[in-house]
Amino acid sequence: PVDLIQRAGNFFKGRHKPQTLHAVAGIDIDVHGGEVIGIVGESGCGKSTLGRMIAGILPPTSGDIAYKGRSVAQLDAGARREYQLGVQMIFQDPFSSLNPRMRVVDIIGEAAVVHRIVSRAKMEEYVAGLMQKVGLDPAYRFRYPHQFSGGQRQRIGVARALALEPALIVCDEAVAALDVSIQAQVLNLFIRLRRELGLTYFFISHNLGVVSHIADRVAIMYLGRIVEIADTDTIFSCANHPYTQALIKELPVLRTDQRQFDPIRGELPSPIDPPPGCPFHPRCPHAMDRCKIERPLLKPVGESPREYDLLHGRRNVHQSACHLNDPGPMEKQ
Ligand code: SF4
Ligand code: MG
Repeated sequence: PVDLIQRAGNFFKGRHKPQTLHAVAGIDIDVHGGEVIGIVGESGCGKSTLGRMIAGILPPTSGDIAYKGRSVAQLDAGARREYQLGVQMIFQDPFSSLNPRMRVVDIIGEAAVVHRIVSRAKMEEYVAGLMQKVGLDPAYRFRYPHQFSGGQRQRIGVARALALEPALIVCDEAVAALDVSIQAQVLNLFIRLRRELGLTYFFISHNLGVVSHIADRVAIMYLGRIVEIADTDTIFSCANHPYTQALIKELPVLRTDQRQFDPIRGELPSPIDPPPGCPFHPRCPHAMDRCKIERPLLKPVGESPREYDLLHGRRNVHQSACHLNDPGPMEKQ
């Protein structure tokens, strides 16, 4: 069984590994192969929508998603199928996403048989290998979802995603429904699988603390836009955007009590009818007149300590969308 996974591992490192994935949907972001990119924002900020667009479940409302330099919208049926298999999603609620009437062996293996990744005759062995890989006892493969704990059910969801040999996994609040102690175990599983299989993750969460454990880079989203993006250390050591700064200030509070995630004064405005100018201005302690009129663009800021990541050969430019970085005529006069 382990051989099958190792074969899959080679597969990921070969032709299925995305070089760069661009998702442009009011936002623009590059995801490099083998990287974990965290997407953080309050519920309603559009991060789940972005995840579904990347997974090919939702078409982009505008703009484009490019994979290996080709627009996903223009792929022929075969290439599109390859793309959709190559990007799998793991959801928040492991129970509602598993069919209660199906045995675990079928939940994990069925799609792999349908897509001819494994023959029906070999499916059981294939699933046993996957279960081992995610820390589940293969002896339980004939059980049903209700016979597993929440953490185990999320492992089933992970095994089901891995069965399709993805290169990229979109995790949408993948640990949010779990107890804190179980969250750490499942995060560690994601980290181990990434190391062993060379996976790329798009890790979506409302919790910056959770994301900081796993992400190489973090993108902070507010009302459908990325307002700051940098490598994880830079986000914590020199956050630029007032919204990011507020999220960081709230982190210890989040750990000690379970109150609603609403770190900044005021309500989150509707993403359908965002405020003019900087969408954060109604809640920003530094808002200036200009912020109510002119939308700040994402621009490189400061000196990123690790602007070029030699290990991965990629640029890590720290970018933020705030007028404080770029005083305009209204402030200069
Ligand atoms: Fe605050 Fe203005 Fe910067 Fe927006 S652009 S975050 S309102 S200072
Ligand atoms: Mg969501």
